Amino acid sequence: MSQEREHIKCLIIGSGPAGYTAAIYAARADLKPVVYTGLVPGGQLTQTTDVDNFPGYPKGILGPELMEDLKSQAERFGTEVRFGYVTKVNLEGEIKEIEIDGSKIVTADTVIISTGATAKWLGLESEQKYNGFGVSACAVCDGFFFKNREVAIVGAGDTAAEEATYLAKLASKVHMLVRRDEFRASKAMVHRVLNTPNIEIHYNTEAVEILGDGQVVTGVKVINNQTQATTDIPVDGFFVAIGHKPNTELFTGLLDMDETGYLITKADSTQTNIEGVFACGDVQDHIYRQAITAAGTGCMAALEAERYLAAKEHAIAE
Ligand code: NDP
Repeated sequence: MSQEREHIKCLIIGSGPAGYTAAIYAARADLKPVVYTGLVPGGQLTQTTDVDNFPGYPKGILGPELMEDLKSQAERFGTEVRFGYVTKVNLEGEIKEIEIDGSKIVTADTVIISTGATAKWLGLESEQKYNGFGVSACAVCDGFFFKNREVAIVGAGDTAAEEATYLAKLASKVHMLVRRDEFRASKAMVHRVLNTPNIEIHYNTEAVEILGDGQVVTGVKVINNQTQATTDIPVDGFFVAIGHKPNTELFTGLLDMDETGYLITKADSTQTNIEGVFACGDVQDHIYRQAITAAGTGCMAALEAERYLAAKEHAIAE
């Protein structure tokens, strides 16, 4: 059976703040972008509740609403947003070949990758039950809701250390659950945690269940993995900071990645190691991981795609 084919100037993979911002800029530059949304249209923010730190919304906005706004704004300038999942890519050569849902082939002059990253979860049933109702994987996004209340955070890497100190400025007390008897985080970060008086570190401790009243989190049941003793810690917020996984399986062996799988872009740019292929948002950012920084790099990717195409057209005309 022959595959359906179509050629476009700019294909954007992923529909989070990075993808939609890239689409807004690409559409306004007349690149007639097509966004393939992936399996979670709108990305990570559709799985959160209030977003209070995205500039332009003085009263805050619900994550899903923010993503609908970004989508509408992209569509207003002619972006075509399609529900579809990229199953294969061939990025070498001037014309990029993208397979959608295992059947359709789209060829494109430029590809903007904004497939994001996925927060790792512990895998507890209660964790998903209370996700958005006291359970969060982003202290910067949700810490504010726990001002002067007690929270717990699980993890012992740099992210957990950074988020614990961030939370300690807001919460009355932070219980840090560390599964071994030591941190993975850098010495400087550990030093900061140890010197924050309202962080209590529970070593050799794992969360076994998030406790709640059916509506919101009320505590966490933990086990000491040395003594097997279990304890209930009353908290209103439970933060998971055990790492993120960038969604880059599709690009393995094609695009340069770091050891965790984050795409590597050139300095001060969204340019990947393949010409005409740009990466923006969390898929290439393990440090900031904010909606606004993702949107910023989305803008960069579209401007760079536009410049790349203009330079090519200029070269042909000469
Ligand atoms: P890491 O992979 O470095 O750390 C993950 C942490 O979570 C580890 O302490 C690990 O424990 C713990 N963990 C994993 N699974 C579980 C589980 N099921 N239950 C309990 N604990 C668990 O991820 P990070 O997100 O912290 O960091 C990712 C990268 O980003 C690192 O290279 C880091 O240095 C970098 N980074 C840098 C920052 C900065 O420079 N400002 C800020 C944030 C991140 P264990 O140690 O026992 O394996």
